[in-house]
Amino acid sequence: RTVYLNGEYLPEAEAKVSIFDRGFVMADGVYEVTSVLDGKILEFKGHLARLGRSLSELGMGNPLSDDEWLAIHRKLVELNNIDEGLIYLQVTRGNAGDRDFAYPPQDTPQTVVLFTQAKPGLADNPVAKTGMRVISVPDLRWSRRDIKTVQLLYPSMAKMEAKARGADDAWLVEDGFVTEGTSNNVYIVKDGTIITRQLSTDILHGITRASLLRYAAEAQMQVIERPFTIEEAQSADEAFLTSASAFVLPVVEIDGVKLASGNVGPVATRLRELYLEESMKSAL
Ligand code: PMP
Repeated sequence: RTVYLNGEYLPEAEAKVSIFDRGFVMADGVYEVTSVLDGKILEFKGHLARLGRSLSELGMGNPLSDDEWLAIHRKLVELNNIDEGLIYLQVTRGNAGDRDFAYPPQDTPQTVVLFTQAKPGLADNPVAKTGMRVISVPDLRWSRRDIKTVQLLYPSMAKMEAKARGADDAWLVEDGFVTEGTSNNVYIVKDGTIITRQLSTDILHGITRASLLRYAAEAQMQVIERPFTIEEAQSADEAFLTSASAFVLPVVEIDGVKLASGNVGPVATRLRELYLEESMKSAL
């Protein structure tokens, strides 16, 4: 695989970063994951806008222009022959000196890394037909979940607990209400209405979420943005989640309780089709 590191395209084994990099010792960095279907990059504008916001919230500049970012994404897709897959992008604060809690000077070069992951069958995911089983766990992450930082230890722990308990993923709960999934935004459907938590610093502002809610409204579907509990979700007609890599995937069981029929419902199925169709129209 050919990867991108600080202006160079390199074989992955030759891409090396300093052990003093703040991304490594402080998790001082942000990232984006963008999907590729049919060799085209989905939701590029949304991901770049969020990257810019994450960087600025952490007092970092954006090292590249929109055109430069797009050129790198396209080149990696081409060099690695990606038809279906993901592009991972990470920017850290770099660091020339020793480990220090204080930031290095503003002109310290940032570390920029991008790599592709081929995922044949990404759009044709069999889980869209069978649905996922999730467990709930307390949301023990920091309070600025709207910034897409590389501090992913707690979501990893939650995912491992889900696996240990025979489930596929975990939903995070704070003050009695579901915030989001380990790496996705979550939704329930009741009497045809789609319910999902409103945007705040409590959740990541999903790019897939923003587009899906727009497509749903355009299709005259009812959407309400408000928090919900695990109990409400367990008695919903349907549940589903969204992310750049999952698109829309149904959830059929929460903490061992099957939702409604226990099968994948029509709303999640329709929204997945709608999302794939609509988002491809603006793919680059
Ligand atoms: N919430 C969290 C915590 C995530 O990690 C992700 C995936 N990046 C999402 C939501 C979904 O965001 P997106 O649709 O932009 O991938």
